[in-house]
Amino acid sequence: MITTQNPDEKNVIVKGMLYLVATPIGNMSDITLRALKVLENVDFVAAEDTRNSGLLLSRLGIKKQLVSYYEQNKSEAGPKIIEKLKSGFSCALITDAGTPGISDPGSDLVRLCETHSVPVTCIPGACAAVTAVSISGLDTSRFVFEGFLPVKAKERKETLEMDSSEKGSIIFYEAPHRLKKTLQDIIDVFGDRKIAICRELTKLNEEVIRTTLSQAIEIYSGSEPVGEYVLIVEGKKETQNDWSKMTIKEHVQFYMDMGEDKMSAMKKVAKDRGVGKSEIYSAMLND
Ligand code: SAM
Repeated sequence: MITTQNPDEKNVIVKGMLYLVATPIGNMSDITLRALKVLENVDFVAAEDTRNSGLLLSRLGIKKQLVSYYEQNKSEAGPKIIEKLKSGFSCALITDAGTPGISDPGSDLVRLCETHSVPVTCIPGACAAVTAVSISGLDTSRFVFEGFLPVKAKERKETLEMDSSEKGSIIFYEAPHRLKKTLQDIIDVFGDRKIAICRELTKLNEEVIRTTLSQAIEIYSGSEPVGEYVLIVEGKKETQNDWSKMTIKEHVQFYMDMGEDKMSAMKKVAKDRGVGKSEIYSAMLND
């Protein structure tokens, strides 16, 4: 079993330790005091993008030897980092932004450390997923992190099908050029649900749109998404797709709770139940 340092020594740099250091996801003021201390005092820094990280370190006034560690070189770079750690050097791993190991190659380096009995600790800080879920307005008592959906159609659909039965909120990362397609793919599998679209978190243009999947598709139909996105999608409701247990009035209310106006909620109910709109109108009148 690998243990981290003694709690009394938490603020001391330990030889041969890998430090996963969270960095800001947009706002430089989100760097923590501990992150600064570790970055200043480790022997070297492994970075996903040495150019970006070099800029970050110079803005923080830190001069440090940088080695690159990213998706395409991790199988050669990883063992070299382990070798240095084994010989007693301390290393901080920073990824492009946020917490290393969350949708980036950081987790592979942690596994490699485990294999070689190299101790690892984390200096926590910004993470886009946690920031987004906390301000989503959706259920935070239970959530799952999906991250980036697979690009290949078959795997993408299978992943979404698995996610669609999840009761907690579901967190997706997405690039702007794929956002529209992803919204469409999610609604095709999940049906219409609430969504919080969290854009450019912690930056000047931070924006959170709390809406439904269908309305989100409409919002973006006339414009091109720009910036970094986290999508929080409402989990499956017990009653979802089980119309047989609902009265027509409850069914209409279900859609109204998702942000639809009464007319479009009634249209959706008619469609779900495979009946004419007039039948829904008269049931609403007589209910
Ligand atoms: N390790 C990072 C973390 O802790 O969040 C995530 C790295 S992942 C390669 C990058 C993705 O995170 C982006 O494509 C976007 O989906 C999300 N992201 C990062 N910064 C963001 C921000 N400021 N606002 C919204 N989403 C962000």
